[in-house]
Amino acid sequence: MSCLFCDIANGTIKGDCVYENDHVIAFHDINPQAPHHVLIIPKPHISTLNDIEEQHLALLGHMSIAAKHIASELNVADSGYRLVMNCNADAGQTVFHIHMHFLAGRQLAWPPG
Ligand code: AMP
Ligand code: ZN
Repeated sequence: MSCLFCDIANGTIKGDCVYENDHVIAFHDINPQAPHHVLIIPKPHISTLNDIEEQHLALLGHMSIAAKHIASELNVADSGYRLVMNCNADAGQTVFHIHMHFLAGRQLAWPPG
């Protein structure tokens, strides 16, 4: 089964990487919805949030810690940022390898559309 984000994680497809460690990689979204729009993904393939298990607890923590580092690097930790994970059709998930959207750099509306 081919997966775009697995290919970015394993380097087959080059992402515009902003952060990487053994567990996660983060890269610029190809269709940014804010001045800063980064996708943070786990390196192992997980299709949707419905597929997470206790074995993934640390991985999900690594995604959040990555967001903190990215916020600091982009100098938006104090001004603010939003983390979003979409699951399945009603949330608008289009890539079925879980990812955290990191959005910052403008006033973000709430509730999201
Ligand atoms: P979602 O709708 O939550 O599944 O988000 C998928 C995101 O992946 C969208 O914001 C797309 O713009 C983004 N995307 C799709 N293909 C690529 C790519 N090759 N590189 C970076 N971002 C991508
Ligand atoms: Zn994948």
